[in-house]
Amino acid sequence: MVVYDVRCSHDHVFEAWFPDSSAFEAQAKKREISCPVCGDVRVERAPMAPNVSTGKGDAARRKELAAHAVRMLTNMQAFIEKNADNVGPRFAEEARKIHYGETSTRNIYGRATDQEAAEMKDEGIEFGEIPWRHRSDA
Ligand SMILES: [Zn+2]
Repeated sequence: MVVYDVRCSHDHVFEAWFPDSSAFEAQAKKREISCPVCGDVRVERAPMAPNVSTGKGDAARRKELAAHAVRMLTNMQAFIEKNADNVGPRFAEEARKIHYGETSTRNIYGRATDQEAAEMKDEGIEFGEIPWRHRSDA
């Protein structure tokens, strides 16, 4: 399916769905598409990028998405660094203390081994895992 912005000769623009781009051409030629505002059948495609995946430029798009994801992670990391205490390798120990009320509740971040993470899950300690980017200057 493709969605096009269609414009009639009175400059009304409306959205219409077609099985594919050739279906639009065929229907427009046969005057089967009419403007919902004025009923005009003299329509043409309004200039816009249709929401179609053509497979073209996918590599560029992937690259863009990857760059976007890295930016988001970097922002998230910056947010965590600003709003939570870095407890480094003592993450499991500190998370446990907070969970059992042995220390004041606060946001922490740090590292946990796979085994520590599994143990914390077993104990019902809530925590999240995110892929952490190691800065070259760290
Ligand atoms: Zn119209």
